Amino acid sequence: MNQANKAVVVGAGFGGLALAIRLQAGGTQTTLLEKRDKPGGRAYVYEDQGFVFDAGPTVITDPSCIEELFTLAGKRIEDYVEMLPVAPFYRLCWEDGSHFDYANDQEALDRQIHAINPRDVAGYQRFLAYSKAVFEEGYIKLGTVPFLTFRDMIAAGPQLAKLQAWRSVYSMVSRFVENEHLRQAFSFHSLLVGGNPFATSSIYTLIHALERRWGVWFPRGGTGALVKGLVRLFEDIGGRIELNAAVAQIETKDGRASGVRLEDGRLFAADAVASNADVVHTYASLLNGHPRGNTEAASLRKKRFSNSLFVIYFGLNHHHSQLQHHTVCFGPRYRGLIDEIFKGDALADDFSLYLHAPCVTDPSLAPPGCGSHYVLAPVPHLGNADIDWDVEGPRYRDKIFAYLEERYMPGLRSQLVTSRIFTPFDFRDQLNAHVGSAFSLEPVLTQSAWFRPHNRDRDLSNLYLVGAGTHPGAGVPGVIGSAKATAGLMLAEAGA
Ligand SMILES: Cc1cc2nc3c(=O)[nH]c(=O)nc-3n(C[C@H](O)[C@H](O)[C@H](O)COP(=O)(O)OP(=O)(O)OC[C@H]3O[C@@H](n4cnc5c(N)ncnc54)[C@H](O)[C@@H]3O)c2cc1C
Repeated sequence: MNQANKAVVVGAGFGGLALAIRLQAGGTQTTLLEKRDKPGGRAYVYEDQGFVFDAGPTVITDPSCIEELFTLAGKRIEDYVEMLPVAPFYRLCWEDGSHFDYANDQEALDRQIHAINPRDVAGYQRFLAYSKAVFEEGYIKLGTVPFLTFRDMIAAGPQLAKLQAWRSVYSMVSRFVENEHLRQAFSFHSLLVGGNPFATSSIYTLIHALERRWGVWFPRGGTGALVKGLVRLFEDIGGRIELNAAVAQIETKDGRASGVRLEDGRLFAADAVASNADVVHTYASLLNGHPRGNTEAASLRKKRFSNSLFVIYFGLNHHHSQLQHHTVCFGPRYRGLIDEIFKGDALADDFSLYLHAPCVTDPSLAPPGCGSHYVLAPVPHLGNADIDWDVEGPRYRDKIFAYLEERYMPGLRSQLVTSRIFTPFDFRDQLNAHVGSAFSLEPVLTQSAWFRPHNRDRDLSNLYLVGAGTHPGAGVPGVIGSAKATAGLMLAEAGA
């Protein structure tokens, strides 16, 4: 390809946006096509009566991978979005009334750990050292490398073996830390990217080191402001984005992708096509009728998919000043509940919750004196549990509200101004997510790196993938890393 060549990116999630920026900055004329009326994908934004609700990612880590997008486009991030530090990173709460503030303050951490179990102070230091080693290998060295051949996997093998990547996150944490609450505090992170701490490779302990190294951030105006900033950056350097542009088909000719056709019939010809849409949707629907689409979709459907989520966005006419920005509310069970979320065929009676209170950091997200919130509960995906969410959703919402009101937010239901729910049905129908999974393929070792759908298709050599379903996986830094890997391949091809 040369400078005149064109690329189309399907889907404006963080992965699609980051890829589009990299391609455009690299000299490829890029068009980004998004089926919904707003960009962001899982990072969509709802607005109602002065309340602003970020739909998805709220814990923004590794700001350097975001800043890099601005730098390579010759711009300054501070001209587009302001990133605010969040402290503590999270408050972790248990039903016995105890809590742990996880922060980037070694002394405060040591003090809290010592109060829980003095022996775990040294254990935590050893865990942190391990997590840092994994971070160097898994994130810095391999996080943006496309694993196209099995040779790439073999090359990474010795390091993965040395770091005991076959162990689960929980089992690795348990080697260093004795107390059960602390084991939960240092192992729940993989859930943020759809990984079961009891099954996901201990490589995912790297999230701990990543947070300690770069902190936890929140954009002023919410994650939606970051999405807007990336869209503006893309347009400022000449990129074109079309919303309400659902792609129906990836067109192929002579064994290559030749462009895409929208549901409304419009055709976009391209020299290269990249899909940020769900990987099963990409092969089963967008390549429907093509032999490659049929075989790859059949193979992907046999894989393990991450859990889904049940989310309630709600605005209150009261500011709960007792809350931190991020709270994890552990329920009565940890392992048992997680087993049921990942393998069960029904909704468990109990739940663990993540509660988002962004007005703690940025009060402008709600009218004066009010509070915007969301609360989410991990739930089984639709392939495992045949739950009718149209019926169960409102019931589950009421149950969660009652629980929050009793333990965390007194008076919640009488303070309610607005609320809406997002269920596994919405992940399936609005985001085209296979089985309504919130994070695509489950990040177990046998579905990671080379074993994950590759950043470039095996047969259609100018069809690329980007986002949670490809290497390295879900989470904002993950999908931005996948964009780097995919852009590297596409720009190398363009320069060829
Ligand atoms: C509730 C929730 C909370 C989360 N919290 C965090 C967090 O705090 N921190 C973190 O790092 N990660 C978090 N994550 C994970 C993170 O948000 C995702 O892994 C990441 O945003 C996924 O990005 P993506 O690039 O894969 O694309 P997606 O966000 O999945 O976007 C894909 C886009 O493709 C579009 N699309 C699909 N089909 C078509 C089609 N046919 N034509 C056109 N467009 C199409 C979709 O509409 C969508 O906009 C969270 C996820 C959820 C759901």
